[in-house]
Amino acid sequence: MERPNEVWTIGSILKWTGQYFAEKGVESPRLDAEVLLSNVLGKERIYLYVHFDEPLQVDEMARYKGMIKKRALRMPVAYIIGYKEFMGLDFAVSPAVLIPRPDTEILVEAVIERLKEKESVNFVDVGTGSGAIVLSLLANLPQAVGSTVDISEAAILVAKENAEKLGVINRVSFFHGDVYSPVKDQLFDAIISNPPYIPDSDIEGLQPEVKCEPHGALAGGTDGLGFYRKLVREGVSLLNPGGFMAFEVGIHQATAVAKLADAFAELGEVSILKDYGGIERVVIINKRE
Ligand code: GLN
Repeated sequence: MERPNEVWTIGSILKWTGQYFAEKGVESPRLDAEVLLSNVLGKERIYLYVHFDEPLQVDEMARYKGMIKKRALRMPVAYIIGYKEFMGLDFAVSPAVLIPRPDTEILVEAVIERLKEKESVNFVDVGTGSGAIVLSLLANLPQAVGSTVDISEAAILVAKENAEKLGVINRVSFFHGDVYSPVKDQLFDAIISNPPYIPDSDIEGLQPEVKCEPHGALAGGTDGLGFYRKLVREGVSLLNPGGFMAFEVGIHQATAVAKLADAFAELGEVSILKDYGGIERVVIINKRE
C-alpha cells in the first residue's frame, strides 16, 4: 500500500482496504473497512460517504494500518475497536469474552417480555462473558436485580467495567465459579444462560474470527449439551415456583434441550423461539406454580 507521491483519501483507502480484506477471505470486506476507518476518525460511518476526497493525516493512516493488519489476520472487528453494540447498548469487549451476537437479543427480549410486569425480579445469568445478557436485562428491567457467574476472572472484569458504564452496577452481583456453585444458597425468578454449546467435533471447522474467541465460551463437550444437562438438573431447586429457565441453544439442539425438562415433575410448559435466520435458538422451560 505504498503510494509515495500520492496522498490517501477516505475514498481511495476504503477501496484499497475493501479489496485487500476480500482477498484475505473477510466476509464483509467493505463494511469492515468502513467501520474501522470511522473508528479511527471518531466519526459515524455516514461521514465517510460525504468526505471521500478528504485526505488522511499521517497519524490516522498509521492507526488505520495497524487495524488493517489485525483484520487481515482475521481478528474480529469488535476486538480491534474494543466494543460491540448489543440491545442498542455499547459493550466493551476483549479476547477474554465472547462477542455478543444479534441472535442473543432474541433471548434477552423474550426474558424482558416475561419479567416486565413483575413487581420485583431476582434472576441469575450463568456465564457472564461481557455481561451483555445480564446488563441489558437490568437496563430494561428497572425493578430487577441480577446475579451473574463466570468461571473466567478476566471476563468478570470486562463485565464489571460494562456494568459501571451502563449505570447498573448497584443492581448486579458478580460471582466467580463454575455454573451455579457460588449461588447455590439463593432462589431466583429466572435462570438465564448462553452456555458454551459448540460440539467438540465442530470446533476445528469454525471461522478464523470465532477461533479468536475464548475456547471456554464456545466448547460444549462431545455433543454440545453438557452444560444444559447440568443447568436444568441443578437449576430446578434454585427456581421459585412459577419461575423459568431461558437458554440460548445451538443449531439442532432445541428439541434435545426442551426434552431435558421431562425428567423433572416440577418443570412444566416449554417453548422454543427462532432466531432471525429461522433457526430454533431459544428454549424456555417453566417451573410449575
Ligand atoms: N453463537 C456462537 C457461535 O455460533 C456460540 C456461542 C456459544 O457457544 N454459546 O459462534
